[in-house]
Amino acid sequence: MTEIPLEQHIAPSGEQMTVRDLASCPPPEQWHDWVEYDAKAWPRKVERHYAIIPTICFNCEAACGLMAYVDKETGRVKKFEGNPYHPGSRGRNCAKGPATINQVNDPERILYPLKRGGKRGEGKWERTTWDEVLDTFATKIRAAILEDRRNEVMYHVGRPGHDGYMERVLGAWGVDGHNSHTNVCSSSARFGYQIWCGMDRPSPDHANARFILLISSHLETGHYFNPQAQRIIEGKMNGAKLAVMDPRLSNTASMADYWLPTWPGSETAVLLAMARILLVENLYNRDYTQRWVNWQEYLATEHPTEPQTFDHFITVLLDLYAEYTPSFAARESGLEEETIIDIARQIGHAGTAFAAHTWRAATAGNLGGWQVARALWFLSVLTGSIGTPGGTAPNVWNKFVPAPFLKPGPSEVWNELLFPPEYPLANYEMSILLPYFLKEGRGKLAAYFTRVYNPVWTNPDGTAWIEMLTNEQQVELHAALTPVWSETAWYADYVLPMGVASERHDLMSQETHAARWIGFRQPVLRVYKERNGEPMEYTYQANPGEVWEEDEFWIELSWRIDPDGSLGIRKYFESPYRPGHKLAIEEYYRWIFENSVPGLPEAAAQEQLTPLEYMRTYGSFEIPVDKAPVFTLNERELKSVDLDGTKVDTLSGRITRNGAPVGVMVDGKAYEGFPTPSRKLEFYSATLKEWGWPEYAVPGYIHSHVHRDTMNYDMGEYLLIPTFRLPTLIHTRSGNAKWLYEISNANPVWIHPVDAERIGVQTGDLARLTTEIGYFVNRVWVIDGIRPGIVACSHHLGRWRLETGQGTDRWASALVELAKVNDGIWRMRQLEGIQPFTSDDPDSARIFWREGGVHQNLTFPVHPDPVSGMHCWHQKVTVEPAHHEDAYGDVYVDTRKAHMVYQEWLALTRPQTQRPDGLRRPLWMIRPYRPAASAFKRE
Ligand code: SF4
Repeated sequence: MTEIPLEQHIAPSGEQMTVRDLASCPPPEQWHDWVEYDAKAWPRKVERHYAIIPTICFNCEAACGLMAYVDKETGRVKKFEGNPYHPGSRGRNCAKGPATINQVNDPERILYPLKRGGKRGEGKWERTTWDEVLDTFATKIRAAILEDRRNEVMYHVGRPGHDGYMERVLGAWGVDGHNSHTNVCSSSARFGYQIWCGMDRPSPDHANARFILLISSHLETGHYFNPQAQRIIEGKMNGAKLAVMDPRLSNTASMADYWLPTWPGSETAVLLAMARILLVENLYNRDYTQRWVNWQEYLATEHPTEPQTFDHFITVLLDLYAEYTPSFAARESGLEEETIIDIARQIGHAGTAFAAHTWRAATAGNLGGWQVARALWFLSVLTGSIGTPGGTAPNVWNKFVPAPFLKPGPSEVWNELLFPPEYPLANYEMSILLPYFLKEGRGKLAAYFTRVYNPVWTNPDGTAWIEMLTNEQQVELHAALTPVWSETAWYADYVLPMGVASERHDLMSQETHAARWIGFRQPVLRVYKERNGEPMEYTYQANPGEVWEEDEFWIELSWRIDPDGSLGIRKYFESPYRPGHKLAIEEYYRWIFENSVPGLPEAAAQEQLTPLEYMRTYGSFEIPVDKAPVFTLNERELKSVDLDGTKVDTLSGRITRNGAPVGVMVDGKAYEGFPTPSRKLEFYSATLKEWGWPEYAVPGYIHSHVHRDTMNYDMGEYLLIPTFRLPTLIHTRSGNAKWLYEISNANPVWIHPVDAERIGVQTGDLARLTTEIGYFVNRVWVIDGIRPGIVACSHHLGRWRLETGQGTDRWASALVELAKVNDGIWRMRQLEGIQPFTSDDPDSARIFWREGGVHQNLTFPVHPDPVSGMHCWHQKVTVEPAHHEDAYGDVYVDTRKAHMVYQEWLALTRPQTQRPDGLRRPLWMIRPYRPAASAFKRE
């Protein structure tokens, strides 16, 4: 990097300095002292000196690299920019990354642990000490463990932001207490992938693709938004064509070569029609399909009297999917037949360079949405593009989670509040049903942690969550671990402030592209101070106020649960370097970097750094491909030692040891294969058949609960898409980021001009949208970028608080009245929109937006898919002009109806409680926290 001695200046310290390259990213050798002009001092040229310390963004799941600029004069973080040495994000961020500085400096932020004074939800908060918090929870959890009430301890996570840490903590405690947000997010898409290949997320190699098909808006908001968006554009620049299925003209669809505005839920029909075209026109990869699909098992089981040949399998497929003609798919979806045919052919010609991805979107909206992901993967299978350059890999092949020291064994208990008998195949925990299960007396919670999770606001039927959280018999003790106020924290016993991206340690890896990397989130002020000779014991000593980092919280709590080590817990939280001493958080990561990351010690040594110093310096590391290959890993050959004591099934080629599959023979060679029962890609799922769903044993089309035929357009019924994200907001954590709210502060209802005329509304008018259990009132945005018959409302906005001066950040929330007005009826009315306020930040007095959007999720009942367990978000609504008594932001909910809808959907399930093998769930299926195999069996 060339030095540009623009001008000599005198620093406050008196030393002479030189402003260096102003145009590009600082090179790492200058990160210890980077100099820039102070923009606010212009036209004077005043230099500022920064220490640049990398960390990882915490504002979505993508885990992009950030660089914190610590002002050496003030000792405070001045700004965040992208880290060009991060393999996923490569120096680029979306608006939410740099907005981390708003979160650090938010005048509304919670700086000290708070304890409720009055009743839950009364809003009387008192400052307390971390000691009091830790002792209270340790006593409660210790008693639950000693009295064998282990299922009464629950950790419920929204944004995880780390890999493996909490699973280790819960394992050490011996509880089956990991709950997540996943069944309002992705469990359906995950199920569609898992049932094929035993891994539950896709990882497309967009940059090298020839054709890209997205069912979600990845360029603007989708999964791994910024890292994938970069590579989609690279793929396009290299000549790839892009097709986007989305009923709404998202920014992504507007950048595509093909916008495919399918009727929600009909995507499966379109994808199966495309699969049929590949078969009919011989555009499929015959060799790959023959080698890697479990067609032998399918024919032997379902067509035993017919020829057991691959050619016959193709004949059977053509027969099976005969009805999925382009005209059928066009009728279902509203697309043109020619478009479906054209895209299918382009996919076939792209072959092994066909990249595809779906997340949330159609999979999250519809009953049977998991079949969308399953049908999409079918196209990847038929093109032989699984884990190829330009294709789509299972996530595990592009992700790296290093092992920590001393991993606890799995717990021996099974928690039916998480995986109840009605949902044996649920991909993740049945999170949204927790209030119903507690109400039905299926259990109670002695200690409940919500962690960066806001179910009152995020989940369907949020008033059920309020009722649960305010019931001290159902939830005895609740702490909200959160970096920001939330509607849920309001109902907690303790609100515990946790660090934002620059105030905590975490290790993350995501499948952003065809590589494996780890990213190291770190508390930058602690690192800065320690570098400057100020060692500290805990991160909170460097953070604002008494903001803790969670890693240290769990270590402290675990020590207090098991102070003398007699419960066998404490040993997991003792130093691997100083036997018997409490683990220092630095030691946890030091051990991982020294022992579990291939290539890192060598890379560090080359720079005369320890592995920890390397990660503190660069913030990320890409595993060398020779140590962690990423393509076609199913074709890793088993060594002869791996085959000791194994048997081979002559029909399927499956290799087993003591009944457990370990690999598969293909063309005379023993391969690792996929982590499925057959070790192949399971077109045919014996699991679905054996577990109550024989009609879904092969990919098929399930009519959504909002299928076109269920809509009575003449009665004013529309399909509401309530799930789309805005690229500038974080699900439920934008309230502390003023820049983001300045950009996005409304969520009007998208309505097509034809429908608007029919309803009699214009842009800006208020409309009432009535669901099965209530209604909400919002403004209308008339726009032709949506299919007629469909309306859409982004889920990000409509934050509320119940008191003037506290609760959800005032940048983002309306002051509301929310109350149960009579038996079962809840009403919300806005008392005051967003207003300027006085604070340390002068910008708070300059707020110009008044309406902060309208909340809608309270008016949705739960719709748990009976197979995947996913909440099916799309709603049938009636849309009409607002009534004279309606006001912007009004919400009305009838919880009695909500309970009836819950029971209707529960009745769709097929519990498998009488199985001869006594299993609660197939042993091969993954769980985010996996108990011991013995726990899978009923007593
Ligand atoms: S995409 Fe944006 S919010 Fe997500 S990690 Fe990257 S910079 Fe942060």
